[in-house]
Amino acid sequence: MNVLVFAENDNGKVAKASFEAATYGAKIAASSGGEASIITYGYLDAASLNGLASYGIPKILHCTDVSDLDPSQLTKLTIAAVEETNAELIVFPHDYTGKSIAPLVSAKMKAGMVAGAIDYPELSGDFTVKTNVFSGKAFAQVKIKTDKKIITLIPNAISKVKVDAAAETIAFSPDLGAPSVTVKEFKSEGGEGINLTEAELVVSAGRGLKGPENWGMIEELANELGAATACSRPVSDIGWRPHHEHVGQTGIAIRPNLYIAIGISGAIQHLAGVNGSKVIVVINTDKEAPFFKAADYGVVGDAFEVVPKMIEAVKAFKAGQA
Ligand SMILES: Cc1cc2nc3c(=O)[nH]c(=O)nc-3n(C[C@H](O)[C@H](O)[C@H](O)COP(=O)(O)OP(=O)(O)OC[C@H]3O[C@@H](n4cnc5c(N)ncnc54)[C@H](O)[C@@H]3O)c2cc1C
Repeated sequence: MNVLVFAENDNGKVAKASFEAATYGAKIAASSGGEASIITYGYLDAASLNGLASYGIPKILHCTDVSDLDPSQLTKLTIAAVEETNAELIVFPHDYTGKSIAPLVSAKMKAGMVAGAIDYPELSGDFTVKTNVFSGKAFAQVKIKTDKKIITLIPNAISKVKVDAAAETIAFSPDLGAPSVTVKEFKSEGGEGINLTEAELVVSAGRGLKGPENWGMIEELANELGAATACSRPVSDIGWRPHHEHVGQTGIAIRPNLYIAIGISGAIQHLAGVNGSKVIVVINTDKEAPFFKAADYGVVGDAFEVVPKMIEAVKAFKAGQA
């Protein structure tokens, strides 16, 4: 099965989710006796291009004519790359661009699609793909019956794996027409630190922190660990933290390797966005807090005592490693 991987250009860089999609596509092509290719676009820094070449995909189609493509042009670019590579499967990262382009390609190509895959497809029998449903409370095995197939891959669902292989980058310039929309202004909400969706470690806090002035210790713990920061919805609703940190059913869904929840009760709507985390640590004064049922490790204690001790312990551990 020939596989095409869509690698998103995120301000001149390729983000981790696209490298994971490359690992995923390379493995499926190798297991099914097909060839894998990547389609990407715009100016990319050398580290990103070299990075793309190191995940076992031998061919990179690079549309360099443009930097910002609108969704209709990205759809045309992807379809042209599918035709060029004779791909049967197209893999997108389940990120902002992937979530917007994959359904457009699916509709244009009449390709069956699974949004939010969390594992490799079953290749020996039916082409079934595992995905989360009902806000992460259940799994579904979805069979794709069409010849052309599309998968969007949830960030952190699989690990990216570098291989010792070379890749050829080929200039690719299909006719994409004029854009139907253009971005007139781009305002960042902040969040220049670690991307929350891709973060492997997340330190998150809730209303138990009492006020925004107490987030210094949360940020310090996150900095020491190299983690992203997140929060519960009420905390962002009342303006203690920016909205892009809100995780849960109505916020961002994440799957880090470690999620540390501090002063968060563990309401079902919060759990919906974090219950795919591989290890959950909960710190809460109330031993009956629902979050403890979902926790791998729990500390019944006051955040204002426990978190400073954790910071000291992490610092001591790092000093010992130095
Ligand atoms: C339709 C809908 C969608 C929603 N979507 C989301 C969503 O996406 N994400 C989300 O988070 N919520 C969402 N909610 C809100 C959700 O139901 C909860 O109200 C919210 O998650 C609670 O936030 P919290 O845990 O920070 O606050 P609280 O429920 O007030 O819990 C605070 C916790 O802190 C503990 N605590 C207090 N002091 C300390 C201390 N000193 N040290 C340690 N622990 C302490 C308390 O014991 C308590 O467990 C949604 C609700 C609805 C109705």
